[in-house]
Amino acid sequence: MHEFSISSEIAKTVLDTAEENKGIRVLSILLEIGEMTLLSVEQVKFWVQELLKGSIAEGAEINIKTIRVRIQCEFCQHQGRPFFDQQEGVGHLGPYCCPKCKSFQVKVKKGGGCTLRQIRMVR
Ligand SMILES: [Zn+2]
Repeated sequence: MHEFSISSEIAKTVLDTAEENKGIRVLSILLEIGEMTLLSVEQVKFWVQELLKGSIAEGAEINIKTIRVRIQCEFCQHQGRPFFDQQEGVGHLGPYCCPKCKSFQVKVKKGGGCTLRQIRMVR
């Protein structure tokens, strides 16, 4: 039910933002979901739609963009996709490893969270 709690937050933010901006109808929203969250895009979409029923955002178009994980190595400063080695137990959930120097001292630059990027509404 991880998707449900994230979706509740998203739905609440959509409605709060619409209210603050005196929106009368929400047309579409754009969400960015990081690969690292392992959230199911289909489930998030389903729950957000359900939670917005009966509100001014009912029937709004829900667009979701998946953001791939990108890292920056603190050792050699390499930036890009992390190195995935399933056999070593380094998978899509991390810990992430630099593909160049194989250091684990990497910072996740992108792909970590879930963000409400855009709301289109009628005012
Ligand atoms: Zn490195």
